[in-house]
Amino acid sequence: MAPKQMTSEKHEFKAEIKQLLDILVHSLYTSREIFLRELISNASDALDKLRFESTKGTDILDKELPLEIKINFDEKKKLLTISDTGIGMTKEELINNIGTIAKSGSAEFLKQLKDNKSDVNNIIGKFGVGFYSVFMVAEEVVIKTKSFKKDSPEVEWKSDGLGNYEIEEINNDLKRGTIIEIHLKEDAKDFAEKYRLESTIKRHSNFISFPIYLENEKINTISALWREPKNKITKEEYTEFYKFLSYDSEEPMDTIHVTVDAPIQFSALLFVPKKNFDLFGFNREDYGLDLYVRRVLIQHKNKDLLPEYLSFVKGVVDSEDLPLNISRETLQENVIFTKIANSITNQVLSYLLKKAKDEPEKYAEFWKEHGRVFKLGYSDFTNMEKYSQLLRFNSSTSSNADQLTGLEDYVSRLIDGQKEIYYAFGNSRDAIALDPHLEIFKRKGIEVIYLYDPIDEFVVTSIRKFKDFDFKSVDSTELNKLEQLKDVSEKENKFQSLDNDDEKQFDSLLAKIKAILGDRVTEVKESKRLSDSPACVVSAEEGMSASMQKILRLTNKDISVQKKVFEINKDHKLIRNLLKIFKSNSNDEYIGNVAEELYESALLLEGSLNDPYKLVKRMNQMLEQSSEWYTEVKKL
Ligand code: ADP
Ligand code: MG
Repeated sequence: MAPKQMTSEKHEFKAEIKQLLDILVHSLYTSREIFLRELISNASDALDKLRFESTKGTDILDKELPLEIKINFDEKKKLLTISDTGIGMTKEELINNIGTIAKSGSAEFLKQLKDNKSDVNNIIGKFGVGFYSVFMVAEEVVIKTKSFKKDSPEVEWKSDGLGNYEIEEINNDLKRGTIIEIHLKEDAKDFAEKYRLESTIKRHSNFISFPIYLENEKINTISALWREPKNKITKEEYTEFYKFLSYDSEEPMDTIHVTVDAPIQFSALLFVPKKNFDLFGFNREDYGLDLYVRRVLIQHKNKDLLPEYLSFVKGVVDSEDLPLNISRETLQENVIFTKIANSITNQVLSYLLKKAKDEPEKYAEFWKEHGRVFKLGYSDFTNMEKYSQLLRFNSSTSSNADQLTGLEDYVSRLIDGQKEIYYAFGNSRDAIALDPHLEIFKRKGIEVIYLYDPIDEFVVTSIRKFKDFDFKSVDSTELNKLEQLKDVSEKENKFQSLDNDDEKQFDSLLAKIKAILGDRVTEVKESKRLSDSPACVVSAEEGMSASMQKILRLTNKDISVQKKVFEINKDHKLIRNLLKIFKSNSNDEYIGNVAEELYESALLLEGSLNDPYKLVKRMNQMLEQSSEWYTEVKKL
């Protein structure tokens, strides 16, 4: 046979890959062994993909080849080879898969990697760049690969990881799959020693579900831990499996092992990590459970087995009752799959409820780490009851910002006659505590839930009620229900009540203020809720709460400031003085200035003042004026 014409092509790595390689080559010595985990995991992925193709009935090259991973080494030559009988790659795939960083956010990833060199271990595998870690130990890497697709030639790829790679079609005798030859650097030559290899594989790759042979000796022992009976599994095994699965270096916070036989058979081994995994906030897509059917991996990171708000859960699910040849695209329409997913969601929520009840301190730790993600579940109407019970908030009863309460507890502390759950929204606990709207609640001894995360507002407006109690924002108008309740702390009566004549004058003053503010307010009325503040604005009963309007404005929904009711505290020094001024000259311009100032300050407090310039200008004028009076009084 005439030798085939073979030409070698030179390609340059993309700029971002060069950067990545540069970082990896200089990265910490201690994390270097993870290159082996990454290459074995790629081999295992390639085998999973092959098995998946074969269950679908795709025509496969050398169908009879066993699915396995082989590792060989030659100490003298400082050579390590890792081979698999997986799907292999065509030339195009080789260029596309090994020449580019596939996932988005890679620039950010590179930056983070640069800043946190020691974390290479934890993050490298998550960004679709695991292969390159081999250059931490290699001075040259050769990939030989042959695709499972019939008639695709074997291809060879070669690089020293500096800037270029060479690629060429070769005539060789690889049956199917991929061989990776690693020419080790002098200071990494221990990776061509049996002991080093064996311990590294055991540490990171023990649960790979295909046999791994090190020089013909099978070394990974455990697979499909989730199928073992619970009482046979040690805590160490669970932890080891969790670390294998998640790349976490710590043990999990919780382990949830579920086996269900009827009506549908499935096992799920789930973990709640100790730390929120959304490393830099841009890795949102990196979640999901691995789905197996009869121990065959069907899909990595399936995102439909759990709702997004439980995406912090890691783990695997395996069922006997799903068809092996199910396609990933139709999974969601499969009734059995949906039932399994619902059952798993339910199991996780029940687990958390039990934890919240039995170990509230531990639940608080869970909430601190994963609560923000959990709150996203406000639209899961099916599980609304459990969801609401699991929520935690800060409230006026908490002694500090870290102390949280659940709705169940809130409801147990309702005062006599209280029919609603009250909440206030603000920038921080301190800010909310100063909100004038809360004055009446303090007087009545009613607990108010403090919300400071923007999402909280969506949570309370979409769950609407807990048990029989509606959520109500403290800045809504309808507070007559509260007025009837007994005061716990007497409102200090520094002022005599007004006589009949003054009452009438006060009403006229309110009318005057309404005339000054005009269309900007729907009504000006006497306040029953204020103790220490002179005035506040409140939302119409059915209107949107102030904070919701603010959120909508922030998200650029066109919404002008909703008209408010403006409330005036009759028992406030400023207002009493204003009444005096009004009585002597109802057209005194001071009244106009005060009315404007109070109104705009109230808007400012609730975050809906659009234009602070007038307020500041007016305030400066008034300060100037009062400084005159002050110097006169003090005879300065
Ligand atoms: P990831 O595994 O997260 O996709 P890697 O950098 O580890 O990222 O690998 C990049 C790609 O190279 C893989 O997605 C796969 O398509 C291909 N690949 C790597 N190793 C193998 C292999 N042994 N067999 C087949 N394809 C492979
Ligand atoms: Mg990989």
